[in-house]
Amino acid sequence: MKNISSLVKERLKKEQIVLLDAIVEMASIHNVSVYVVGGFVRDLLLNIENLDLDLVVEGNGISFSKTLAEKFCGSTKSHQEFGTSKLTLQDKSHIDVATARTEYYSHSAALPTIEPSSIKLDLARRDFTVNSMAIKLDKQGVFFLIDIFGGEIDLKNGFIRILHDLSFIDDPCRIFRAIRFEQRFNFRIEDDTRDLMLSAIENKLIDQLSGQRVINEIKLILNEYDPKKCVDRMRQLCLLQTFAPEISSHDFNWSVIEKIDSVLIWLERILSMSGHPPKWRVYFLGLFITMKGVAFEKSVKRLHLPIKISNWIRLDRKFFDESKRQLDEEKELKPSQVYDLFTNLSSEAVVLLLATCFSERVCSYVELYFNQYCELAKIKLTGDDLMKMGMQPGPTFNNVFKALRDARVNGQVASRDEEVIFVRSNFL
Ligand code: ATP
Repeated sequence: MKNISSLVKERLKKEQIVLLDAIVEMASIHNVSVYVVGGFVRDLLLNIENLDLDLVVEGNGISFSKTLAEKFCGSTKSHQEFGTSKLTLQDKSHIDVATARTEYYSHSAALPTIEPSSIKLDLARRDFTVNSMAIKLDKQGVFFLIDIFGGEIDLKNGFIRILHDLSFIDDPCRIFRAIRFEQRFNFRIEDDTRDLMLSAIENKLIDQLSGQRVINEIKLILNEYDPKKCVDRMRQLCLLQTFAPEISSHDFNWSVIEKIDSVLIWLERILSMSGHPPKWRVYFLGLFITMKGVAFEKSVKRLHLPIKISNWIRLDRKFFDESKRQLDEEKELKPSQVYDLFTNLSSEAVVLLLATCFSERVCSYVELYFNQYCELAKIKLTGDDLMKMGMQPGPTFNNVFKALRDARVNGQVASRDEEVIFVRSNFL
């Protein structure tokens, strides 16, 4: 065990060290050994800030988590079956606390059977050497690095390496994780690990994962700083095709994916609206937007996409091509036509449309749409108002609202009173 106390003091924030010291004190009172594990240790050695503390306790992790919650006035949510507990502190930050455990896999991609164990066995069940290091919280201010599998040297040399040959068979999710960490840190998947990974892909081990697990991994990948690098790597490794069969042959799709980041950056600078579309959703839609119908439905089935998500993508797929066609015509559009063109699309699809036909003209349409037209299009009159004006409810109401919306967006009507005048002179 290597003493890394000075490194910890140099690299962590004061509050983090105070928190670790308090945890050490509680561990000594309760006579348990406590370790910080996983990504926090990896990022500490890489000198990257990481605020997610993962603790492993040799002893009862759940009751230790509850003890910490009492001390820090926090709250816990525990899972007895896994011996894990999420502690939420007053500042809303989280600490994951787990009982040291070992795992057995009855078959590939099965949920593991879990038994309480030592820190050594707990580290041995992990994915990669760089994620399998721990810091022993020994005494206040004294921290030791536990590195059984050579994680520190792999970090120095930039390698993603599994711990044993059956790793991808036990849990094929690790294939996605390997790509994510490789691309995030500009590392290389070590040669033997890469060969085992390719053989796992070739043997279709991904097919054994549930749709939900695949979606979770894809979501994590698409939330990375530069998702397109990961998407490209998945494409090279024929991994994308395991859930999106058409993807590799679709060049148009790829050129759109390549531009998403710059469009998102532009959008953030230009738009006053809050609630920009989450990055992963834009990329996710980008994977499916131009896929042929049959292939898309196959992906929906394979991934067991939740109805809400599959319907969202179906709706965007329905309107996307027509909107693109209109923009390609390069005619000047009236504000109401711009509004109609974008309003049937989700904001994620608007980003993709911009990535597809990026030009000054289309940029100005998108800017006007989000910053002006969406607000202008809010009609003040209601169905009740129309009835009070003597109109009968029915399909004409839709025509009235459409005309009102066009008039508002085109700047012909600007207030409730003007809406009343507009309806009287056009519909009564
Ligand atoms: P990130 O910076 O993306 O949060 P992380 O390493 O903290 O990275 P988590 O997904 O939070 O990633 O997992 C925490 C730790 O749990 C990992 O560092 C790894 O040791 C272990 N782990 C997570 N998923 C797996 C897996 N599928 N197989 C084995 N170990 C895993």
